Amino acid sequence: SDTNEPGKDEEMPPPLAGANVMNVILVAAECAPFSKTGGLGDVAGALPKALARRGHRVMVVVPRYAEYAEAKDLGVRKRYKVAGQDMEVMYFHAYIDGVDFVFIDSPVFRHLSNNIYGGNRLDILKRMVLFCKAAVEVPWYVPCGGVCYGDGNLAFIANDWHTALLPVYLKAYYRDHGIMKYTRSVLVIHNIAHQGRGPVDDFSCVDLPGHYLDTFKLYDPVGGEHFNIFAAGLKAADRVLTVSHGYSWEVKTLEGGWGLHNIINENDWKFRGIVNGIDTKEWNPEFDTHLHSDDYTNYSVETLGIGKPQCKAALQRELGLPIRPDVPLIGFIGRLDHQKGVDLIAEAVPWMMSQDVQLVMLGTGRPDLEEVLRQMEHQYRDKARGWVGFSVKTAHRITAGADILLMPSRFEPCGLNQLYAMNYGTIPVVHAVGGLRDTVQQFDPYSETGLGWTFDSAEAGKLIHALGNCLLTYREYKQSWEGLQRRGMTQDLSWDNAAEKYEEVLVAAKYQW
Ligand code: ADP
Repeated sequence: SDTNEPGKDEEMPPPLAGANVMNVILVAAECAPFSKTGGLGDVAGALPKALARRGHRVMVVVPRYAEYAEAKDLGVRKRYKVAGQDMEVMYFHAYIDGVDFVFIDSPVFRHLSNNIYGGNRLDILKRMVLFCKAAVEVPWYVPCGGVCYGDGNLAFIANDWHTALLPVYLKAYYRDHGIMKYTRSVLVIHNIAHQGRGPVDDFSCVDLPGHYLDTFKLYDPVGGEHFNIFAAGLKAADRVLTVSHGYSWEVKTLEGGWGLHNIINENDWKFRGIVNGIDTKEWNPEFDTHLHSDDYTNYSVETLGIGKPQCKAALQRELGLPIRPDVPLIGFIGRLDHQKGVDLIAEAVPWMMSQDVQLVMLGTGRPDLEEVLRQMEHQYRDKARGWVGFSVKTAHRITAGADILLMPSRFEPCGLNQLYAMNYGTIPVVHAVGGLRDTVQQFDPYSETGLGWTFDSAEAGKLIHALGNCLLTYREYKQSWEGLQRRGMTQDLSWDNAAEKYEEVLVAAKYQW
């Protein structure tokens, strides 16, 4: 019979997505591990794989900032006009973990690896125009595994202002003309503080029919009348997502919307919040390759009591801090800017240094805040380290070796570091805002529930109060501490849950609009 045919594949289980299998193209300015400055890169690296696991055909389109060994030239060449200038792009491809990665190559992207968002405003804008123009046509011209995606059952996922032009191009170049009529676009807000603002003259760079000008125009007391790419993207997209529930209502407020709250409120019907997952292969203490070498070790919730102290000792040794198992080791990892509340930590440092603790901070960003890190290390040699730099390896090792992770962000769309921390048995102390509020429940000593400590306004005094309670529990209530660690480590933080919700949104966009 048929089933006994030699070489015939075993019967495959039906895809989780069932009858809703789609072609999905995620378009982003960065994608880990190829390029990353923050959470957007992590999401672009992990969400597509989770969607592919559900049975969808999934592609990621990202600029080719450097030569990536896995990616091969597909031989496809296309030319696009950007602000009157003719530009050629090439397409490179790699198939990894069930996902097609397409890298768009142009001289304007090359050698930007360490400075993806570098250059002046117009240069950045032109790069994103070229990228979005090329990305929206990828399903037509770029064969993956020999076959183009085409426009059947197709949905784009665009991310932040950098690719907010894509939903606009899809509409203006295609759907307005009856082409790609059933292709949908979802725009994900990872951070609304950056919007692609400029003078109204910028419209001449984006190469759209004149009647589109109004969708870009925004007036607010800060910027006056200006050109705003995020505004146009929010209007053109079929669905809009934020990366947590907390953030999804914050962006509707005057304070949290950064001038875009009215547009978001007007488009409320297409709006939803989905909390990010984490890449449980990359960020898993059991398999983390950054813990393979030197004195570090992998560990799980079963081996926590041996593995984590070993990582802590290894981190103390690597940083040149006294190797003491009993001293609480506090970590911070992140971009050094106003958003992340680095200045609040700086304000709390004298108090922290009066305690028996160790502190390590890793980050890059605003020069004055980088200086704060260096100063702190200089002043408190025996207790504190301020590591100015971007090091994925060090980020993993701090996450494993630290006891406590600080995140006093003023706003935080989702935040990934607190999720990584909990997965590694490291207890978060966070400002209860946006995704931090969604993901870190305050510890309650009476019911022995909760995942960390939260404080309700971005002030150094509040941070000190929360951290003080955290330190007390660390020192005096070992069982409570272990309970916190265990609860954090046994949560399902994987992308699988979130991917199912993304699928719901893609399907809803297809049928209801
Ligand atoms: P955001 O996207 O606002 O920067 P997230 O918490 O969502 O913040 O994501 C930050 C990501 O960037 C995490 O993966 C974090 O480990 C990483 N990261 C931030 N700063 C550094 C750094 N200096 N070195 C290594 N990784 C960093």
